[in-house]
Amino acid sequence: MEIKFERFHLQSDLLSPLKDFESVSIPTEIRIDPLTKRKSRIITWSLPSTGKFDFSRMIEESKGCIFCPENVLQKTPRYLKEIVPEGRVSAGEAIGFPNLFPAGTYGSVVVLCRDHFLNLHEFTPEIYVEGFSVAVEIIRKTMAYDLHARFWQISQNFLLPGGSSILHPHLQVIGDPTPTNEMEWLIDAGSSYYEKNNTLFWNDLVRMEEKLGERYIATSGKVHWFVPFAPIGFNEVCGMVEDHASLTTLGQEEISSLAKGIVSTLRYYYDKDLNSFNFAIYSISGEGSHRLLIRIISRTPIQSYYLNDWTSFEVLQSELTSNIYPEVLCREIRPYFS
Ligand SMILES: [Zn+2]
Repeated sequence: MEIKFERFHLQSDLLSPLKDFESVSIPTEIRIDPLTKRKSRIITWSLPSTGKFDFSRMIEESKGCIFCPENVLQKTPRYLKEIVPEGRVSAGEAIGFPNLFPAGTYGSVVVLCRDHFLNLHEFTPEIYVEGFSVAVEIIRKTMAYDLHARFWQISQNFLLPGGSSILHPHLQVIGDPTPTNEMEWLIDAGSSYYEKNNTLFWNDLVRMEEKLGERYIATSGKVHWFVPFAPIGFNEVCGMVEDHASLTTLGQEEISSLAKGIVSTLRYYYDKDLNSFNFAIYSISGEGSHRLLIRIISRTPIQSYYLNDWTSFEVLQSELTSNIYPEVLCREIRPYFS
């Protein structure tokens, strides 16, 4: 089955004060996601970098937070004894416990490390391997208690632009008996594709991207890294794990490949003077056409005067924008994965 990559061009003509009021044409590209059919807008300009932000004052004012080693065991909640008799789950430096302010049925926080703050180039694969081991244990124990909680998001919101008020690096692990919007779109579109073609969309996609080569970053065992044709956020990088739909079935090799891919992406972001990001892993049990997917996006960096990257376009028109061509991002980020 040939996957269609549909795009169309828009163009804005104007007399530019930047070029002595000569006529200029500024292109914009609209791309349609081959699975969900959602439209994305690739804009061809972006604001210049304001350099690397100095976090020293922010670190000084917030250190000794509830996730710091001296507080985490005293000030964070424990699980119900029926779910985790020990109260909390840990692996290496990572420690998981229920979210005191949950947004769903089973909400957990996984503190990733003892360090209160890390720059993006300071995250290591070991940090994520330990964090994901804790997440897997939380999901397993929760599902043994409630089999209906099969829709899980494992995500990281890093720094204020990413939606986190706490600097200390941590993951969110949220499980529900109902899918989020995004999960439902992925599941519905994935199963219609399977019904029509008798093949899995994700397998077909990576084979095709691998052949085309312009958005395919790297393979590591069963984990395929690529830049999506129609990104839903800035500098979006995706990873798909062949043969797996849930984090709980992954072996050490796949967990380690996921961790390494995240760290490679964060190093690229750091070199681009970015400092805030989000990622989400869509981990779903019992859906044959789903494959484990991670999406990583950068957010506008913290700078002296904060600029939100979600304008009325994203919030009120549901049209997502990106300011780099996926093929260019792929070329730039590939060396970070080697
Ligand atoms: Zn802390």
